Amino acid sequence: MRSVHELRTEKNSQVRAQRIEDYRKLCRERGLALTPQRRAILEAVLDSDAHPQADEVYAALARRRLRVSRATVFRTLEGLARLGIITKACHPGSSVRYDSRTDLHHHLICTACDRVIDFSDKHLDSVPVPDTRRLGFVVSDLQVQLRGTCRECRTQEDKT
Ligand SMILES: [Zn+2]
Ligand SMILES: [Zn+2]
Repeated sequence: MRSVHELRTEKNSQVRAQRIEDYRKLCRERGLALTPQRRAILEAVLDSDAHPQADEVYAALARRRLRVSRATVFRTLEGLARLGIITKACHPGSSVRYDSRTDLHHHLICTACDRVIDFSDKHLDSVPVPDTRRLGFVVSDLQVQLRGTCRECRTQEDKT
């Protein structure tokens, strides 16, 4: 019998392959080539659960010795988010982060180190969305941010 970890890894690699395939299709429809650079940018986000910022993606590519400009990284990440291949996490006081998860989930945000941790909760998923139509605002998504201190930062606090 396979372990939960093995199953999860297998599932993740399927999801990863599917996401790259989706991107390839969408690129083709738009007359764009899925260049190794574009692919590597997507992979850098898919392979991270740390909600990387554009600069972190750029650094990850530099470590892989891929020649790609900062501007290309920014533009490609924005394009990926627009296509819905990845999502954009915008939290006040922090730069834009990119999220490999496109399903409904919530974020725990550490106010000490800015870490963003994925968090699922059925009750939060079903929070009733208030009627905002009188403001002319159409809600498309609901995501809850819980702020606090992460485990690592709390451990540090205990030491000092
Ligand atoms: Zn922290
Ligand atoms: Zn997330």
